[in-house]
Amino acid sequence: MIELSELKVVENAFLRRNTEYDKPSFYPFIERNFSENKLFNETTKQKFTGLLATTNDHLAHNVVLHKDLTAIQKSISKKDLVFDEKAWIKKMPLVRQKIERELGLRFTPKEISFCDSFPASSKNLEQRGASAITVFEGSEGAGIYFLKRRVDMTSTAIHLIHEQIHTCFSQNKDKEQIFMEWFEEGLAILYSLKIYYEVTSDMKTLQAYRSRSWIYSRVKPEWDFTKRYFEYMKIISRIFLAGGFKLLTQLQQLYLSKQREKINTYLEKIEDGSLKITYIPKNDFEQFIANYGVVIEPEQITPLEYRIVTTLKKPQTIEEISTAICAPLDVTKNALNHLFGKGVCLVVKENKIDINWRKQDLFEKGLLKPIFPMN
Ligand SMILES: [Zn+2]
Repeated sequence: MIELSELKVVENAFLRRNTEYDKPSFYPFIERNFSENKLFNETTKQKFTGLLATTNDHLAHNVVLHKDLTAIQKSISKKDLVFDEKAWIKKMPLVRQKIERELGLRFTPKEISFCDSFPASSKNLEQRGASAITVFEGSEGAGIYFLKRRVDMTSTAIHLIHEQIHTCFSQNKDKEQIFMEWFEEGLAILYSLKIYYEVTSDMKTLQAYRSRSWIYSRVKPEWDFTKRYFEYMKIISRIFLAGGFKLLTQLQQLYLSKQREKINTYLEKIEDGSLKITYIPKNDFEQFIANYGVVIEPEQITPLEYRIVTTLKKPQTIEEISTAICAPLDVTKNALNHLFGKGVCLVVKENKIDINWRKQDLFEKGLLKPIFPMN
């Protein structure tokens, strides 16, 4: 069993919950307050208590933060504090069979180690945010390495499969063969998700994994290893819709026979619109892949504006709103002017204010969200 860091425990709960704050804007707060170098324990619980105490007032940004932190804390359960790596290593023969069947290739799985730091030759990838790496065939210390402090309940099991897929490719390529990052990473993500789902039937984790990739793609710096994965999967998802697994298998054959240019034409075909959607997803997993890149960005408003909108269950006067959100009248007026400007609110009869019907459904369905203001 590997005990998880407080950052990874809190992050997993954050990814699986609906939060009031727009998630990419909120994530840096999570990363700033919880550390990957400390285990989740009593100190983390005290940290929650401390943070909740500082947000226990009527300021709009704190009211929203208080709700979100409470919800995240409540959804952390005991089973999310440790990762059972031995149980997963035991599943590796089954995973190997499945990889061989998906890729149509044979390979010898590599030893998996959980370590405090990557081998010296790959140390820079640690700084670039990688949680697991494969040292390829022919290099010293060939094998798969996981950083213990980045083990989590969202991605580690999927990455165990992912890294074996790289191992499989590396054993089936010769020395001069080039590594096409977008394509090989895309396939490794796709098949690791597929195999994980076949082994566990756990769609919630697939969704949390996708959410993690999307948020990382929005918040991580450009040099971070994890920033591009969401984009690579968007490309694979789009190719999938043009021909399903059959087309991807054909491209994989081109890859192994070093026909790089032919694979890269698919990037152009997506761009110029000539890659037609002809494949209909056949089950839940295929539908998940088809939707991978579909993220609807919410309209962002300030926490104070959001508080005002949430109080408008029925039309109210400025004075009533000001009392409901515990904000001075002039502050409330100012925020309301912004909401009028954005078309989120309007004045209905007798100086009462209501949500603009044009925006109401978006608000009700979580597509009008407060942006975290303290980054
Ligand atoms: Zn990879």
